[in-house]
Amino acid sequence: MSKLSFENGKMIVPSCVTVPYITGDGVGAEITPVCQAVVDAAVKKAYAGERSIEWKEVMAGERSFNMNGEWLPEATLETFREYLIGIKGPLTTPVGGGIRSLNVALRQTLDLYVCQRPVRWFKGVESPVKEPQKVNMVVFRENTEDIYAGIEWKCGTPEAEKFLHFLQDEMNVQKIRFPETSSFGVKPVSVEGTERLVRSAIEYALENELPVLTLVHKGNIMKFTEGGFKLWGYALAENEFGNRVFTMMQYNELAKERGKIVADEALALARQEGRLVVNDVIADAFLQNTLLKPEAYSVIATLNLNGDYISDQLAAMVGGIGIAPGANINYRTGHAIFEATHGTAPDIAGENQANPSSLLLSAVMMLEYLGWNEAAKQITTAMENCFEAGKATIDLARFMAGGKSLSTTEFRDELIREMGGPIK
Ligand code: ATP
Repeated sequence: MSKLSFENGKMIVPSCVTVPYITGDGVGAEITPVCQAVVDAAVKKAYAGERSIEWKEVMAGERSFNMNGEWLPEATLETFREYLIGIKGPLTTPVGGGIRSLNVALRQTLDLYVCQRPVRWFKGVESPVKEPQKVNMVVFRENTEDIYAGIEWKCGTPEAEKFLHFLQDEMNVQKIRFPETSSFGVKPVSVEGTERLVRSAIEYALENELPVLTLVHKGNIMKFTEGGFKLWGYALAENEFGNRVFTMMQYNELAKERGKIVADEALALARQEGRLVVNDVIADAFLQNTLLKPEAYSVIATLNLNGDYISDQLAAMVGGIGIAPGANINYRTGHAIFEATHGTAPDIAGENQANPSSLLLSAVMMLEYLGWNEAAKQITTAMENCFEAGKATIDLARFMAGGKSLSTTEFRDELIREMGGPIK
């Protein structure tokens, strides 16, 4: 077994990497082996047998429950902790109280503070917008605070009443319109939580030579939480990244002093010098802008709730809500779990119809995370070629002009053929 190690912020990657995986429930049983076969073929093709992945199954979800009575065995968490990375198919969330969602448990145990969602369009895939090719962004959604750490009290309970009295009597809050029938919610947003998220997003943008990092927030309404996110984000950019960034705050100062045209020139110069432009936008304006001028954005850093809306809208714009990949990452410890973002699709499970693309593109993210970009490129190129030729699973093919519906395993074979590899 070949473990990754993480030293001084750098991942040490052996030539054979052990990757723990959760097969997943429902269609997981079909898409996981397909994903592994395609990844193996890509790695083999890219490195002529000098690099490889050793897959190590760990249990979770219904499959685990049926085998050993546990939804998420401690051994699974321990394995992810030890091997740093992992990949997972969709999991059934246990019904009934008491058991945390498995995804939440994984995220919290490993403190995976970034939910990363790349969004791009594949030629051939039907989209509801006119120019989907202009949508190319990576969303960094904060994964541990805001509503994920939100606290709520239901109206009519003694707790809500106690909280109401605290607000009215001790905090002198008078503006609650219907106090007796209100539920209450509180959400924390911290300096540390913001900084680690924004730092990771800026580092990602710089490493990948992307032009703009945008902080998306509702700081005009929630001044200290969402507004804090914006201010702390800008401060971090200026303090930690100095000349490598050019922030909108610096731009505004320049515009005040010397006029807008000079500032525009400064912005153009910043781009020319390879400096990352760091700006911000209010969440509602951002959602409009993504439809009007999506090309203005490349990396997005945002809070938890905004990130939820944004990730799904952007995925829908590229017609990819069913193929959107995702990862939950802690860039400080190196821990990362890559995952299919769709559910278990029980309605089509067992029919060899499921689209493996979401999991496959998550595997692409994983390969890039390891620095195995050549193997990642093999897979994306094969997918580009298949989709452009109208070859896809039925969920996508039925909307493609001249689309040809393939089964899950036929799609696997097409991808491997595209990469010039042998078909298993
Ligand atoms: P869960 O309860 O696990 O969330 P669900 O069926 O409620 O499952 P999804 O699994 O996200 O939610 O499915 C929503 C719809 O999208 C279903 O009709 C499903 O068949 C379809 N779907 C989801 N994933 C895929 C996939 N990988 N390939 C093809 N269709 C899919």
